[in-house]
Amino acid sequence: MAIDAALRRLVRLRAGNRCEYCGFHQDELPLVTFHIEHVISKQRAGTDDASNPCLACHWCNFHKGPNLATQVDGLLVPLFNPRTQRWDEHFAAQGDLIVGLTPIGRGTIALFNMNDDDRIELRRIASPNN
Ligand SMILES: [Zn+2]
Repeated sequence: MAIDAALRRLVRLRAGNRCEYCGFHQDELPLVTFHIEHVISKQRAGTDDASNPCLACHWCNFHKGPNLATQVDGLLVPLFNPRTQRWDEHFAAQGDLIVGLTPIGRGTIALFNMNDDDRIELRRIASPNN
């Protein structure tokens, strides 16, 4: 079963039209429609019901791929799961950067390359008062 239009709307609304990983708002990236992303990929038996999909910008979606975990200091840690975890327990915005508060946050930031030059620049433009 594919994700239908009603579920796409629900995912977008639930996310407040923001990437559930890095926090960009769709309005800040108007030329690229955010993806409905499977937190647990279909390849790994993730479901299409509302408990699995999240809204992700093209950068986060691209870097995540089918990954569920990454390495931090030589240890395997799970990636942030926006369906079961709270963003502000694992991440914080610090000026134009996103910093990890936990190994999950730090690993997700590194794998998703959340502080690459393009995203730092976009945060600077989107929130000039930081
Ligand atoms: Zn993102």
